[in-house]
Amino acid sequence: MRLPTALNWPLLSWPFSRKPKQPPLADAASQSQAPPCDSCEERATFHLTWPESGRSVREKHLCENHARSVLTAYQPDSRGTPRLPATLDDATEFEIDLIVLCEIQDEQLVYLREVGGQRFLPIVIGIFEAAALERRLKNVTFPRPLTHDAAVDILTTLGGRLVHVLVDQSIDNVWHAQLCLLQNGLRLTIDIRPSDAFMFAVLLERPIFFRNELLSPDNPAVATGKSPRAPGAEP
Ligand SMILES: [Zn+2]
Repeated sequence: MRLPTALNWPLLSWPFSRKPKQPPLADAASQSQAPPCDSCEERATFHLTWPESGRSVREKHLCENHARSVLTAYQPDSRGTPRLPATLDDATEFEIDLIVLCEIQDEQLVYLREVGGQRFLPIVIGIFEAAALERRLKNVTFPRPLTHDAAVDILTTLGGRLVHVLVDQSIDNVWHAQLCLLQNGLRLTIDIRPSDAFMFAVLLERPIFFRNELLSPDNPAVATGKSPRAPGAEP
């Protein structure tokens, strides 16, 4: 199989595919209190969070113009101690590199980078999943369990263990994933949206894999560089 190179995969482009929502989420009153862009006096409408080892390590709050210049020239940071990727037949390990919360688009982004490699991939996810991931990586706690916390509790209470998360299909430019579980020596797979699967991987500190055949530039979801969607993201 032809493996993509860092130079041509994915194509660098503005990752958002739709027009900004109208009106913006924030009203005029809140705009006046909103923090300015880190690079100019404009209002910051893009909030970027870079995690490392499951924790937020860096943030940027940017206006659209400055977010555009960061994301269209995006390259994963070489930060932290490099580690060897986990292994799975016909698959490559990726990890969450960046979460982009955007106030003026319905779609949000999570960037994944290849562990021990140069490739990266932006995936469009829904606002609730993006916000949940961001809060988790910032270690924001809540007095009562959230849905993903409860799901993890159910899994572990029933004696299950998450082995890994595998993004295994791309159908009509939409990624599909599965949770690979072990319970009482039995291997089980659960069909799941990638955004939810990533949350399980973060909560349980397990690896995220992509099937190698999905990573080819021949895959329309990759070749366009237009941020494949997770099922359940805004249509
Ligand atoms: Zn700016």
